[in-house]
Amino acid sequence: MVHLVEFFTTINFQHAKLPILSASRLLRYATILSGFNYVIKHKKADQNVHVDYFSRSPIHSKTPDFNEDDIIQYQTINQISSVTITAESIKTATGKDPHLSQLCEDLKNGTIQDEQYSIQDGIVFRGNRVIIPQALRASVLSELHFTHVKTSKMKNLARRYCYWKNIDSDIELFVKSCQPCASTANTPAKTSIHPWEEPSSNFQRVHIDYAGPKDGYYIFILIDAKSKWPEIRLSKTAPTSLSTIGFLQDIFSVHGLPETMVSDNASIFVSNEFSSFCASNGICQRLIAPGHPQTNGQAGRYVQFLKKKLDAMKSEPGTLPSKVRDILYRYRATPLRCGSTPAEIYLGRSIRTKLDLLRPINVPAETKSPSPTTRSCLRSFREGDRIQAKMFINNKEVWKPGVVVEKYGRLHYRVRLDDGYALKRHIDQLHRSEVHRRVTFDCPQEEEHHEDLQSGNTRTSQPASSILAPRTPQAPAASAAAPTPAAPQ
Ligand SMILES: [Zn+2]
Repeated sequence: MVHLVEFFTTINFQHAKLPILSASRLLRYATILSGFNYVIKHKKADQNVHVDYFSRSPIHSKTPDFNEDDIIQYQTINQISSVTITAESIKTATGKDPHLSQLCEDLKNGTIQDEQYSIQDGIVFRGNRVIIPQALRASVLSELHFTHVKTSKMKNLARRYCYWKNIDSDIELFVKSCQPCASTANTPAKTSIHPWEEPSSNFQRVHIDYAGPKDGYYIFILIDAKSKWPEIRLSKTAPTSLSTIGFLQDIFSVHGLPETMVSDNASIFVSNEFSSFCASNGICQRLIAPGHPQTNGQAGRYVQFLKKKLDAMKSEPGTLPSKVRDILYRYRATPLRCGSTPAEIYLGRSIRTKLDLLRPINVPAETKSPSPTTRSCLRSFREGDRIQAKMFINNKEVWKPGVVVEKYGRLHYRVRLDDGYALKRHIDQLHRSEVHRRVTFDCPQEEEHHEDLQSGNTRTSQPASSILAPRTPQAPAASAAAPTPAAPQ
């Protein structure tokens, strides 16, 4: 580029509007070009054919394709773990799905240029959502419906994790055809909302109630008015003021004391024992008006919700306590009407569920990115990969181009630099590189230019079409054998 760019030149540009994926690359070009005098002119694609040709010309990956053994190993692993849908099984099914593999091809060769699609580790994404191949949709629907979550909540969950054309109508159909859901979908209780003021913080006001007995258990429910975070305690004996105080002490020891506690006026909640427990802990006790059980709507609604879920799960194996745990777990991780989950509002973070396994391990959920240590554990190189290795020359950090010769363990590699040196490097001291081995003597200007590339992002020279390819292709055998690092939260 240095040789081509004179002191004053014209750069022809064929996109009237820039795709998002190119934005960061262009920013780096802009940094390099900032030292030159130039004007940008828009030129139509048919008048700029040589550039167009190179931007679409297929590049040949330097990473060897998975060999046959790897594929067989993959298939075996997927056969064994077919119970759970994982990134691996989605990748395999994507390859077999005629529509998705065609989409992959079209994205890679530029026939389709749509910035909302991307490919990572053989899985196609639409925004942050994994596109589920046809073969796995039924399993994904049952996972979304786990604990008989209703239609709107399933759609909310799907919006975070997965996508396919007509997913919403498939969800509706799935729920409509669920026998346990149909048998419990009786007339919903009319809920007149008591105009409780919206609490400004979590655990400012909690609502409590009892449900049951169900399958021999009395179910104590406490729900936070702000975050809708529920807590449940089970008892095999009829509740008393004393046993209820025990449950509350247990909950408060973890969550702290609420300012206000709302309950109905059942004798266990109005006894002297209970009132003095509240008073001595500085909790303002609010009893609902007699004859208006709807006033305690928060807890009441949760009681109804829980009863329906337990009825729908009646024919499923498991004890009542384990089913209650499953329902609580899924409820805390499912977005409410406001778009956030109780866990996000209450804990300030999302909690991992089996649905998080849909994403490849190195794809950050939502906007949170993995910590540098996690990222370094996930990267890997293969023999023959072009790299930049960190060196210290005269106490100065320098990145030198070279090639991976051998892998030692999970984090160390033997590399040979282009200047002939062979040495051992930790993965944190290696960058993937597309900088080709230089065979000719470089003029000083070009040297300078290379330094710019090395100290910045080494992928600057990556051709446009490879942006769609997975950034860190991993050897399947290595990733299967390596301990799975904890995914970002
Ligand atoms: Zn159902």
